[in-house]
Amino acid sequence: MYWCSGVRFVERCSVNQVTTNVGRVSGVDTTLGHINCEIFVNCAGLVSTPISCRLIMIIIIIIIIVVIIIIIIIIIIIIVIIIKFLQAANALCHVSVSNRHVSRLL
Ligand SMILES: Cc1cc2nc3c(=O)[nH]c(=O)nc-3n(C[C@H](O)[C@H](O)[C@H](O)COP(=O)(O)OP(=O)(O)OC[C@H]3O[C@@H](n4cnc5c(N)ncnc54)[C@H](O)[C@@H]3O)c2cc1C
Repeated sequence: MYWCSGVRFVERCSVNQVTTNVGRVSGVDTTLGHINCEIFVNCAGLVSTPISCRLIMIIIIIIIIVVIIIIIIIIIIIIVIIIKFLQAANALCHVSVSNRHVSRLL
């Protein structure tokens, strides 16, 4: 760690997550602990997008999981409806066959 022109440089310290409070940056979680800040300048080069977008990625993953669960529920409902429909059709066939037997016996 060293100071230069009023700026403190901390080496061998990795930013894990940018924390927010009501939509505003409130600090950064680092390997050396939490640092409170009002302004965060992301200059992590090629990996700057994943650092900024970690929260967005988590939200997108949750949305994808919810959509997959909804699709699975819809598929299960459709399968149950088809099974019920087939069972009802099968029961109608039995009723019509038994009615024919009754009419022949009469
Ligand atoms: C092979 C190659 C050749 C190039 N040649 C040239 C050239 O000839 N001329 C030219 O003008 N440009 C060249 N470039 C492009 C140049 O290197 C980049 O544009 C420049 O380095 C970008 O600077 P930067 O400060 O934005 O990012 P970087 O130099 O990538 O610095 C990012 C810093 O963030 C740190 N960091 C990353 N993640 C974290 C984290 N989670 N927490 C804390 N710190 C983190 C990294 O350790 C790194 O020190 C070249 C690039 C490559 C890959």
